[in-house]
Amino acid sequence: MRVVDIMTQLEAKYPGQSEYLQAVGEVLTSIEEVYNGHPEFEKARIIEQLVEPDRIFIFKVPWVDDSGDVHVNTGYRVQFNNAIGPYKGGLRFHPSVSLSSLKFLGFEQTFKNALTSLPMGGAKGGSDFTIKGRSNAEVMRFCQSFMLELWRNIGPDTDVPAGDIGVGAREIGYMYGMYKKLARENTGTFTGKGLSYGGSLIRPEATGFGGLYFVHQMLQEHGIDIKGKTVAISGFGNVAWGAALKATELGAKVVTISGPDGYIYDPEGISGKKIDYMLELRASGQDIVEPYAEEFPNAEFYADKRPWERKVDIALPCAIQNELNAEDAQALMDNDVTCVAEISNMGCTAEAVELFLHHKMLFAPGKAVNAGGVATSGLEMTQNAMHLNWSEAEVDEKLHFIMSNIHKQCVKFGTEKDGYINYVKGANIAGFMKVADAMMAQGV
Ligand code: GLU
Repeated sequence: MRVVDIMTQLEAKYPGQSEYLQAVGEVLTSIEEVYNGHPEFEKARIIEQLVEPDRIFIFKVPWVDDSGDVHVNTGYRVQFNNAIGPYKGGLRFHPSVSLSSLKFLGFEQTFKNALTSLPMGGAKGGSDFTIKGRSNAEVMRFCQSFMLELWRNIGPDTDVPAGDIGVGAREIGYMYGMYKKLARENTGTFTGKGLSYGGSLIRPEATGFGGLYFVHQMLQEHGIDIKGKTVAISGFGNVAWGAALKATELGAKVVTISGPDGYIYDPEGISGKKIDYMLELRASGQDIVEPYAEEFPNAEFYADKRPWERKVDIALPCAIQNELNAEDAQALMDNDVTCVAEISNMGCTAEAVELFLHHKMLFAPGKAVNAGGVATSGLEMTQNAMHLNWSEAEVDEKLHFIMSNIHKQCVKFGTEKDGYINYVKGANIAGFMKVADAMMAQGV
């Protein structure tokens, strides 16, 4: 295989799907050598099979707002690959949602889910709908309309959706409620559910917690203590919240959060009730962080700027894809950053990743770092199937074990001749080998 040839074909076939092409390009570059060592993969056209989703559903989502006006959004579900288990992955409601972004996310999810070692295939879905400024009733009507179309294509053993940007416990509740009316079954099908109806403890915090468990391991592997380290976090949603909680618990000091309006720098550290305040900010539905600086006057608000200009030890993108570019990467390195880990999916641009790897930085990719969310979804599926609930300690212990195992796989497949651990390569090779082996075993 020559990556350039495959990429040229894909670019011609899917012009304009830049995020999808970026994600595929990154994985193929990492696995080229390993792939070429396995002629049986080439014979089975594993790459050609792997880069195409199994199927894609696209549908209209009409809904009525509180004034009686009709709106029409587009809904999607990309069932990417089920070689390892039922399709599994979140739903994203955000104006940036497109076929390209969901294909990239479904592709990434396939490898991420393989890394968890749980039996889950990869999928992603969502809509270009935004919850910003919408009432509860509007969100409910949208979710119900979305489900009216999607319900036939999902199920506890076929495809299990969850949340992502713009989809939290409220949206999952509305969608699952409608799904149950239509499908007449009650066995899970969604993860990220409320605790009172089959959800798992730790699931809301899991992506952030798992991310910090991974960062902790990475630092330990390099003989660095996380205690006392300063942390820049972007975003202020569910993922950023969980990351801030665990970073603080591990003894680090979180000094930034951000929103579409700019970022907050809090030199005292964002801990305790300030972390709780993030939930209030998010619940206000305004999608801005500026009010934080009014609530806590020692904090500063920087309009239309990103937190990567601050001098910190650890940088954790927790918001959206490509939120940290080459210029930001350079600024972080100029400020002697120790470690950068994507808790958002593909949080860094391809150029930023290249810079980090070129300078042999401690850098970890989203598909490894943020796998704790979907891993805990897998644990929710297990609890549902067993009709029982595990305690917080049990779920946390399993999450911890899964993240350590992912870290180990990255070290195993990513350690280069000079000892540098290339976590991007490690995660991609480990994930690819699992999916490719499963596909080979099951025939064309
Ligand atoms: N949206 C999350 C992710 O990107 C979680 C998916 C899930 O729990 O299925 O991995």
